Amino acid sequence: MPSYSDRVSDQRQAERRVVIVGAGMAGVQTAVALREQGWTGSVTLIGAEPHQPYDRPPLSKAVLLGTAEGSAFDVDFEALGIELHLGREVTGVRPGAHEIDTPSGPVPYDVLVVATGALPITLPGSEDVQGVHLLRTLDDAARLRPVLDRKHDIVVVGAGWIGAEFATAAREAGCAVTVVEAADRPLAGTMPAEVAAPMAAWYAESGAELLTGARVARIEPGTVVLADGRRLAAGAVVVGIGARPATAWLAGSGIALGPDGSVTADSRLRTSQPDVYAVGDCASFPSARYGERLLVHHWDNALQGPRAVAANIIGETPQDYDPVPYFWSEQFGRFVQYAGHHTGAATTVWRGDPVGAAWSVCWLSSEGRLVALLTVARPRDLAQGRRLIASGARLDPERAADPSVPLKSATL
Ligand SMILES: Cc1cc2nc3c(=O)[nH]c(=O)nc-3n(C[C@H](O)[C@H](O)[C@H](O)COP(=O)(O)OP(=O)(O)OC[C@H]3O[C@@H](n4cnc5c(N)ncnc54)[C@H](O)[C@@H]3O)c2cc1C
Repeated sequence: MPSYSDRVSDQRQAERRVVIVGAGMAGVQTAVALREQGWTGSVTLIGAEPHQPYDRPPLSKAVLLGTAEGSAFDVDFEALGIELHLGREVTGVRPGAHEIDTPSGPVPYDVLVVATGALPITLPGSEDVQGVHLLRTLDDAARLRPVLDRKHDIVVVGAGWIGAEFATAAREAGCAVTVVEAADRPLAGTMPAEVAAPMAAWYAESGAELLTGARVARIEPGTVVLADGRRLAAGAVVVGIGARPATAWLAGSGIALGPDGSVTADSRLRTSQPDVYAVGDCASFPSARYGERLLVHHWDNALQGPRAVAANIIGETPQDYDPVPYFWSEQFGRFVQYAGHHTGAATTVWRGDPVGAAWSVCWLSSEGRLVALLTVARPRDLAQGRRLIASGARLDPERAADPSVPLKSATL
């Protein structure tokens, strides 16, 4: 039988209101995790977009190519007792009053979860030019589908993950594709030159032209003008140069933000204001595992973070959030996966020939611990490597470099 104090705390929980702002992956998963973990209070999920909450990864893949109509989450909000308000952009929060501001008036909360994700970075001056697109939302993908159908010549600005995935889809649709990258290689922000080199070759192999060291000076209707004077004909332009946390609405709230615009959450994903949490693409957190603050813009973070937030709101088994970050990308017919986090100081160990169809790269710390790995069509390496990173395992570089040795057998 529950004790008297259990019953009192159950009753208190039932009277408490969690309000989640942002109905993307992180917001939806927070609502679902609260119910899964037994939260009996109210849960209100408020999203700016008018659409039924949906998943973003298919937007640059099946949804873009028209092989999937949509990517709505398979969640029965009503059955879970989650109050869903769509098409409502929250404009501010007053933590002192425990209230947020919405177009239909203030909404009170006991616990607030900020899950407003990220917004794509625009190319200054190109925002109102006709034929220039971003790829973040279902509406963006819906605008881009006819562009692919009409088989325009397309210029993609940015050879990052989104740029590569969009170029893949556009080539598959039969468009002529030129990718313009200001750095000297694709993925310059995340991968060292030796790893990016084989990936750069995938562009040409797919029939896309990759121009590196190419800075966009301006975009005119139908033309991308580069800083060196080259003019590229463009029936459409897709800008994929990164995303920034969507946190402008928090200005003046007292919720601390970092220089990158992220909500600087603590190890339990609490913000600097009481009873306010932040999770997903909008929030950075201190990683004890990597000894630095991480801002992760990937799907798995928007799945795992919410479970920690829900546990910390309920409070019975508080959890520090210190994941091994993970993401995947489908580009140029390859399944690319990455787990962990590495800096330039780590040593690289190759498994397999990067000219071939399947290879991996491991990053080892100065003590020989596996801190990150990238795999191309080697899912077993990824699965084993992810566990080895989590356990802080040390690898024998020689055995790890032999692709016929399972990674889990290359430990010291
Ligand atoms: C095209 C695309 C492809 C991707 N592919 C992959 C992939 O292959 N692998 C991978 O690991 N990751 C991928 N990602 C990244 C992954 O989708 C994101 O990390 C994930 O969606 C983050 O979820 P989130 O809920 O934090 O943010 P979001 O998905 O951005 O959701 C935030 C929501 O909050 C809403 N919102 C913002 N401000 C307000 C406000 N003031 N009031 C109310 N609502 C607000 C937004 O409208 C949005 O709907 C991809 C992303 C994109 C855009």
